[in-house]
Amino acid sequence: MAISITSQSKTLKYFENLPNPYKRMKEMQRIWRETHREEKRESDKEYHRQRRALGLENKTEEYRIWRAKNPLAYKAQMILNYKIKSGEIKRGCCSVCGVEKAQGHHPDYTKPLEVRWLCPIHHAILHAKLRRLKN
Ligand SMILES: [Zn+2]
Ligand SMILES: [Zn+2]
Repeated sequence: MAISITSQSKTLKYFENLPNPYKRMKEMQRIWRETHREEKRESDKEYHRQRRALGLENKTEEYRIWRAKNPLAYKAQMILNYKIKSGEIKRGCCSVCGVEKAQGHHPDYTKPLEVRWLCPIHHAILHAKLRRLKN
């Protein structure tokens, strides 16, 4: 979290004027964590939207099973979505057809920021191919 010098000295003054600055700081940390939980929820929503577009998430129960079976994939998606939300990473175009705002496909889930951009259709096609290769 980037804090400017002015807001930092303001925060310091604020703490100095409090009867129990330590307790207040804990409170601030709690609020900060809560704000980030909200961001996480947002990226979750985006993630579910993507999965639904892929036809991979018709039922919550199915999704829960998928998540339990693929914790790495889930984590990679979460990290990527967070980076997109925060503006650190921009969604690319589908590498097959060039459609804008494609979905990030992870060739390697241990590298959450290394993705191939694919539209929902080409993403689904790729996953169908990968499934065939596995079986
Ligand atoms: Zn495409
Ligand atoms: Zn994928």
